[in-house]
Amino acid sequence: MIISTCLFIFIIGAMLGSFFNVCIHRLPRGEGLMFPGSHCPYCNNPIKPWENIPILGYIFLKGRCSHCKEKISGRYIAVEALTGILYLGLFLRFGLTVDFFYFLFFTSVLVVITFIDFEHFLILDKITYPSMVIGLIACLIKRNLIDGVLGLLVGAGIIYLIVVVSAIVLKMINHPCKDEGGMGLGDVKLAGVMGVFLGWKFVLVALFMACLFGSIVGMILILSGLKKRTDYIPFGPYLAMGSLVVVLWGERILGWYVGLLGI
Ligand SMILES: [Zn+2]
Repeated sequence: MIISTCLFIFIIGAMLGSFFNVCIHRLPRGEGLMFPGSHCPYCNNPIKPWENIPILGYIFLKGRCSHCKEKISGRYIAVEALTGILYLGLFLRFGLTVDFFYFLFFTSVLVVITFIDFEHFLILDKITYPSMVIGLIACLIKRNLIDGVLGLLVGAGIIYLIVVVSAIVLKMINHPCKDEGGMGLGDVKLAGVMGVFLGWKFVLVALFMACLFGSIVGMILILSGLKKRTDYIPFGPYLAMGSLVVVLWGERILGWYVGLLGI
């Protein structure tokens, strides 16, 4: 019973992941989500229904368009599989509860934002603002609106402060990197969304985890020569990673931390 439910949740996740791929491709280009139907970005050949089956379609096609044989981005199968796995993780953590659906929405927003930020170094207002509004309405329904509003202020406030301070510091030391470091206003708005969904306490943990992941991965990328010190590395994916860790294990992390401080 539980295994078939898990499989069902994974398939739903992969199917929605397929839709998120459409969002990731079209939203930054200002295209509509419904029309035209799915087509190859190179030859415009319409994609057949069986080719659109999440994960399997990509495997059957061996990652190439059936018409022009042009390579299909590995991002398609990655987003489908990742969304399936994340939905499954949320189900195992929360069961079929209100929190499950609440964090399902939040996680979906994070997936779309992360992969757009990877490709375009952009966090779109047309995703962050509606997500904030939907999150605040959900907080109102869950009767913790104050925590959501405080989270919004704390999350966005901290990243805004970092953006302002790093801009001043970069100007003072006349840094060769002209794009003003790693964070921008998109990250501020994303941190606001995180605050709404996580509340003020857990958004602090999420921001801490994001900085931790960011420094570790950044260091590995620079030491391995994959990136230069002046290369732009988007911060949105780390914010998303920090959020997901907090959604899945936040209480344990906070408990451990409070214990460590001996409070
Ligand atoms: Zn094609």
